[in-house]
Amino acid sequence: MSKKPSHLTTAFGAPIGEDNTSLTLGPGGPVLMQDVVLLEKLAHFGRERIPERVVHAKGAGAFGWFEVTADVTKYTCADFLSKPGLRTEMFARFSTVAGERGAADADRDPRGFALKFYTRDGNYDLVGNNTPVFFIRDPMKFPDFIHSQKRLTNNNLRCPNAQWDFWSLTPECLHQVVILFSDRGIPANFRHMNGYGSHTYMWYNEKKEYFWVKYHFKTDQGNKALFREDAQVMAGKDPDHATRDLYEAIARKEYPAWTLEVQIMTPEQAAKFPYDPFDVTKVWPHKLVPPMTIGRMVLDRAPDNYFQDVEQSAFNPSSFVPGIGPSPDKMLQGRLFSYHDTHLHRLGSNYHLIPVNQAKNARVDNYQRDGFHFRIEHGGAGPNYWPNSMGGPAPTGRHEPEVVYEGATGRFVQPVTAVDYEQPAALYNKVMNDEQRERFLGNVAAGMNGAMDRIRLRSVVMFWKMDAAFGEKLAKAVNVDPQRAEALSKVSFAELVEATAE
Ligand code: NDP
Repeated sequence: MSKKPSHLTTAFGAPIGEDNTSLTLGPGGPVLMQDVVLLEKLAHFGRERIPERVVHAKGAGAFGWFEVTADVTKYTCADFLSKPGLRTEMFARFSTVAGERGAADADRDPRGFALKFYTRDGNYDLVGNNTPVFFIRDPMKFPDFIHSQKRLTNNNLRCPNAQWDFWSLTPECLHQVVILFSDRGIPANFRHMNGYGSHTYMWYNEKKEYFWVKYHFKTDQGNKALFREDAQVMAGKDPDHATRDLYEAIARKEYPAWTLEVQIMTPEQAAKFPYDPFDVTKVWPHKLVPPMTIGRMVLDRAPDNYFQDVEQSAFNPSSFVPGIGPSPDKMLQGRLFSYHDTHLHRLGSNYHLIPVNQAKNARVDNYQRDGFHFRIEHGGAGPNYWPNSMGGPAPTGRHEPEVVYEGATGRFVQPVTAVDYEQPAALYNKVMNDEQRERFLGNVAAGMNGAMDRIRLRSVVMFWKMDAAFGEKLAKAVNVDPQRAEALSKVSFAELVEATAE
C-alpha cells in the first residue's frame, strides 16, 4: 500500500467525496445522522488526546546513538557495553516535571533526562534527571511531594505555601532544592545540561561479581543556564524555547552530544562508605569515587511525528538488560513499579508495540497475548503457555547475581541528621563562587515570595542549618526575624515543627 493515498479516505479506506460540507436536509440543515463521514471525523477528533503524564508532561525528544569508548567488561556483561566502538541506537526525551503539556520550558524545575537504548538484548531504559540527586528518598512520599509542587485542588493555582511547607517539613529535600535554586536550576535549553541516572544501579559481570554504579552524562555543549529574569522573559516570549532549540540544532546538523562518566563502587567499598550509597539525596563525592569516561551519546534525528514518537514514548526504570539491575535504593524500587504502571494507564497494555517503545534490535518472544491494540508480531499461532513441547521460546537459564540483604521488615523512619546538610553545604560553599551564591540568595528569596510567615520561617531555618551566614542573609531578604530563625535552628525538628504549626 502506498503511504500517500491519491484521494482522501475514511479511517477504513473508503473514498471520501466531500470533506468540508456536512450532509444536510436543505441548505439550512438540520444535519443528517447518515453523514457517517462527519460522524467519524468528529468522533476521532474527540479522542485525539491521551492522558497527560502526571509528571514530565512537557517534553521534547530525539533519536541518536550511544558508543562505548572504554572496556567495562570486568564490571558488566551488558551486551551493549561489551566493546569499545560498539554503537547502539537510542531515543532520548527531555522534559520539565511539574508543568503541563503547554507549560513554559523556562520554568525553574528539574529536567527529565530519559534514555532508551535499543540493545540486542532488548531495550534498556535509564530514566534520570539533570540533577544527580532527588528531593526525597522514600517512594511513599512521592505523590505528596508532587501534589505540593503542582496545582492546588481548590483553585488550580501553583502555591509557594505548599511547595515550601513540604520542603521544610521534609528537609532531606534540601540538597535538590539548593541545586534547583542555583544557576543550574533553569538550564538554557535541553542541550546545555548534564543528565544523571541519579539512582545507584547494579552492574554485574559474567562471573556474577557485582558492583554499584552511578551514571553521569556530561554535556559536550557545556552547561549554560538562564538567570531568573531572563527565564521570566523567555517563558513569555517563547514558552517552547527548549523544544525549538533541540529541533533547530539538529536541523543545523549541530548534533547534541553527551559524554558518559560512571562512578563504580564494590560492595566492600559501599559497606564502608561515609554516606548511604543508596540514598538518592546524596552524591558520591568525586574524590572518594572518581568518575571514569566510558561512552558518548549523540542525538542526530528529530522525530517528524511528535505524538507518535515523543508523546507516546514510555520509559521504565524497570527495563533492564542482562548485566544491569536495580540497587536497594528505595526511590528506585518505587519507580520500578510506578513507571510501567502509569504507561499501562496512559497507553494501554500493549504500549510496547508502539514503534518508539519497541525492542528494535532484539527479537521479542513470550507468552503474553491480546489486550487493546494487540498485533501479532511474535508468538502468532504458537503456544501461549509455558512449559510447552511445541517449540515455544524457553528461558535462557541466565540469572542475575544473588545479593544478600539482612534485617527485619518494618517501616523505618529515616530522620534528617547533620549528614544530610553536608552535601548541600559543600555545593553552596565549595562549588559555587561569590556571584553564584549571590544569585542563589536572590532565587531562593524570589521563590519564597508569597509563602506565609511561619512557612518562610521554617524554610529559613532549613537553610540556616546548612549555612548560618546564608540563613541570616536569607532571613533578612524574606523578612523573617534572624534571631528567631537562629534560635529555632538549635531546637529539635519536632520542636521546630510545633513552633511553626498553624
Ligand atoms: P566536585 O568539585 O568534584 O564536583 C562538583 C560537581 O558539581 C561537578 O560535577 C559540577 O558539574 C557540579 N556542579 C557545579 N555547579 C553545580 C550546580 N549549581 N548544581 C549542581 N551541580 C553543580 O565536588 P564533589 O564531588 O566533592 O561534590 C561537591 C558537591 O557538588 C556535592 O555535594 C554536590 O552538591 C555537587 N555535585 C556533585 C556531584 C558528584 O557526583 N559528586 C555531581 C553533581 C554535583 P560539572 O563538572 O558538569 O561542572
